[in-house]
Amino acid sequence: MAFTELIGQNSAKSRLGAALTADPGHAFLFVGPSGIGKKTLAREFAKGLLCSHPTKDGGCGTCPNCIYVREHTHPDYRELLVAPGEKNIKVAEVRSKILADVGIMSQIASRKVYLIDADYLGEEGQNALLKTLEEPPKHVVFILTVSDEAKLLPTILSRTESIRLLPNTEEEVVTALRKSNPEIRPEDAALYARFSNGIIGYAQNLSESEWLSDDWEKVTDLLLRLPVTTKTELLTDGYAFFDEEKERFLDILALMNMVLDEMAVAVTSPDSEVLRGESKKDKISSMVKRYNITMRKIGLCSEAVTSAAKAYKGNGNFEMNVCRMLLALKKGVM
Ligand SMILES: [Zn+2]
Repeated sequence: MAFTELIGQNSAKSRLGAALTADPGHAFLFVGPSGIGKKTLAREFAKGLLCSHPTKDGGCGTCPNCIYVREHTHPDYRELLVAPGEKNIKVAEVRSKILADVGIMSQIASRKVYLIDADYLGEEGQNALLKTLEEPPKHVVFILTVSDEAKLLPTILSRTESIRLLPNTEEEVVTALRKSNPEIRPEDAALYARFSNGIIGYAQNLSESEWLSDDWEKVTDLLLRLPVTTKTELLTDGYAFFDEEKERFLDILALMNMVLDEMAVAVTSPDSEVLRGESKKDKISSMVKRYNITMRKIGLCSEAVTSAAKAYKGNGNFEMNVCRMLLALKKGVM
């Protein structure tokens, strides 16, 4: 595997490629939300740093260095990750696995590379690392990964070169999902990609559980039936659905907004493709026509959903909040 085989992140990859073919610095910080692929890219970069013939596309993949990294047996490459069940990487580990090791010369490659999951490097761990990060031995390169820079001391930030990983496009996420699961239904891949906000790891988690696809159907049906459902039905059956899905209430609200967006598309450009393909497209279009759904009505519904999310985050009474939202939705489409 080389950079080109990883989907997206072109700007990060071109900066890393340039670093590999010039004189790379001694400390890199990969920044990006959880699930975006920081460690995968960091491991490719590490392979390139250790490879005997690196190119702009990373390690060659065939030299002993590349093979040892791939097989997790390279003596000059170490990863410092949090142990399962632990909150942070222990400072003793920073000392034994890194500080006590940096001074020893590399065995096979011309460098030593350390990958550190800095999301789990507490303040004490960061302080322990600081001096070495400031004046690393010539043959050492550190790669730190972090989801939020605010977790790091300013002194760590100023000593590392930031490589930012940006959300992927929906198309890129779909490609990644297809690559890992060729059997995936196109409408499901599109749904996971939209819902994941461009984070491939999150989209992959979603595709492994069925809730999103099931709940998308339920939410769509609930919204499509709004004009004909009675208030009593909404407050009993409608409420029951939200009560069952209490744990992921905010996700359900996000799904509702996605379906409302599709209705908006059906109002403004009836011929365009909607997210889930043919199965619901006709139903959404005919609902929009039949009940004279306008952008104003969709706006009112969307407001109802947004207020429910706000009330939920503010720890409002769940039942009251959901019932208020359902009634506001009903009023919105009338
Ligand atoms: Zn190589």
